[in-house]
Amino acid sequence: MAYKFVDNYREQGARKQLVRHLEKRGIDDKRVLNAIGKVPRHFFFDETFWNQAYRDIAFPIGDGQTISQPYTVAYQSQLLHINKGDKVLEIGTGSGYQTCILLELGANVFTIERQENLYQRTIQVLPYMGYKPNFFLGDGSKGIPAHAPYDKIIVTAGAPFVPEKMLKQLRLGGLMVIPVGDEQFQKMVTILRVGENDFERIELDTFRFVPLVGDQAW
Ligand code: SAM
Repeated sequence: MAYKFVDNYREQGARKQLVRHLEKRGIDDKRVLNAIGKVPRHFFFDETFWNQAYRDIAFPIGDGQTISQPYTVAYQSQLLHINKGDKVLEIGTGSGYQTCILLELGANVFTIERQENLYQRTIQVLPYMGYKPNFFLGDGSKGIPAHAPYDKIIVTAGAPFVPEKMLKQLRLGGLMVIPVGDEQFQKMVTILRVGENDFERIELDTFRFVPLVGDQAW
């Protein structure tokens, strides 16, 4: 497949402006800001739309799905407090942009997507860009038990509730970030596993995600 990956001064400048914008919006984790500054978000867009790539908006990537808004990616990434080598489960690979940010933060990423055409695209594009997560195709609402436990779990689609099976795949001391709500709006929720059956849940700001669809979801 022929990809046109050019990262010239125009895109680099736009990326720096995006980082400054995110800082103004309250993202203060320097490692997250550095990662946003490094990953060429326009590579996830058709060239016709490169001028949209560094705006702080979600954007259609086909099949009714979106590449998440940069602020949302930064917000979830900041909440995860990734340490180098953390084993991270990501539900909803989508374009793979969030996956690249997690990899830039030093995570060992296990990412799952339910839509085959998105999966097929990311398994080609990400390695081509030099990013190498562990890719899976299937229903991530059940997590990926075969590779559990995980230090961190990030869900990038809106869930109606926190899937029980996924919670059990967090290691003790592990942290999950998941948007939970109705089909329109979701609260960002963090869940820390503090004991075998003990979890600390915190509800944060409101977001708008495409739905998490599956056995333990919509
Ligand atoms: N973080 C992604 C990015 O940066 O491009 C955006 C993800 S998009 C908002 C949500 C993704 O979750 C979609 O690609 C959708 O197909 C996927 N998804 C929804 N339900 C899923 C499930 N049960 N398992 C795996 N992926 C799922």
